[in-house]
Amino acid sequence: MRRSIRGSLLGWYGALLTAVLAAFGGGLFWQAAAAVRAGVDAELDGRAQAIVAALEWDPREGWELDLRDDFLRGAGEGAHFGIWDAGGREVRRGGAGAPERPSGRTGVRERGEYREVERAGPEGTTVLVGRSIAPERARLATLRARVLGAGLGVLALALLVGGWIARRGLAPVEDLAAAAGRITERDLSTRLDVAGAPAELRGLASAFNAALERLAAAFARQARFTADASHELRTPVSIIRAQAESALRRDRTPEEYRRTLEACLRAAERMTGILEGLLRLARADAGDGALARAPVELAPLVEETTALLRADAAARGVGLRCTATPATVHGEAPLLSEVVTNLVSNAVRYNRPGGRVDVTLAPRNGEVELRVADTGVGIPADALPHVFERFFRVDPARSRERGGAGLGLAITRWIVEAHGGSLGVESREGEGSTFTVRLPASEGSRRHGVGPVPARA
Ligand code: ADP
Repeated sequence: MRRSIRGSLLGWYGALLTAVLAAFGGGLFWQAAAAVRAGVDAELDGRAQAIVAALEWDPREGWELDLRDDFLRGAGEGAHFGIWDAGGREVRRGGAGAPERPSGRTGVRERGEYREVERAGPEGTTVLVGRSIAPERARLATLRARVLGAGLGVLALALLVGGWIARRGLAPVEDLAAAAGRITERDLSTRLDVAGAPAELRGLASAFNAALERLAAAFARQARFTADASHELRTPVSIIRAQAESALRRDRTPEEYRRTLEACLRAAERMTGILEGLLRLARADAGDGALARAPVELAPLVEETTALLRADAAARGVGLRCTATPATVHGEAPLLSEVVTNLVSNAVRYNRPGGRVDVTLAPRNGEVELRVADTGVGIPADALPHVFERFFRVDPARSRERGGAGLGLAITRWIVEAHGGSLGVESREGEGSTFTVRLPASEGSRRHGVGPVPARA
């Protein structure tokens, strides 16, 4: 169930205030009623004592009451009294409302609209004094109505003010929501005003801005990626088209047709390479295809993969050296082999005649470290943070001419990270680069760390 913050705030506030007002008003009324009752009781008790003191037994006349007449007359105005002897016979009675006989129990009691005090007099007599408390009751009823009215008035006012304060307090949340609502995918540049938000909401506003920042960066990356991908694919398509158009312009010799078809084939192969790379990355982005992991002996894998690139290295006049210490990781062998291929072929391609590539595999601090160091052209410092981005190339023309589309390192990094590892690079322009892959070693490799496999030049 969705609950409104303002509703619950007001609910709690109202309930608490009602309880406080009820306790306060109830206490006030109870105290007033007790004071009124105590006043009446004192008055009645005084009269009863006066009667008891004035009661005298005369053997000839019987019981005599030596009281001033005005006292007895006063008793008649809404008040009454009664005196009975030990046998329960009436001695004197005055005023309207006096009972026929005593109750037999001394003390204070209420009877209908009367409050009465009954006391024991001399010689077993009983003295009763009472009076109507209708005026006091009426006064108390008026007081009760006033307390109740005032309480309800205060409650209503407090709820109104509370509601206004709650609305005012929550207005910035609504402002933020409205500002957030104005942000569209076309305009991710809008940001919430963090400084202008109340202190409690600043964290929320800056978290929202940070999320927008990441979203905007992701959208920008996506847009650049699409533009780069189209651009990359357009080049081979233009080559195929230009080749076909030029071949069709007039009759050609079989040799010319063969060259044209070879050029088309190279362009198609390049396109296939780009499309495969894109597909790999798209699957990686979608989180498709969990790795089919198994223990992989990395030393033979690195050796064999490097061996496949030896001919290319030799053709470019680059020396390729591999030193592999046995190490086991938990992963997918074809993917790990692709990592080695990408790094070593880059090291060979971005090298120069007479240069060297050193591939080293060794356990280090509970991890397995693969280093591919070359003495090639190196990477400029400003380009270094970008080499793992898709379609990034330090020198697009030179890279393309060497067959690269700038996807190799992005795929390599994805594979390494999917294996729970990390990929880093150090490079100095004109001196060479070193790419380092660190992978978590599996149990076996940590236990059976043995000496290096002999190096092959
Ligand atoms: P490509 O397919 O273009 O080689 P990569 O993603 O493998 O794409 O590499 C991205 C860019 O990083 C390359 O275009 C190149 O400029 C640079 N690079 C990669 N490896 C090396 C290296 N060993 N030495 C110098 N530059 C490199």
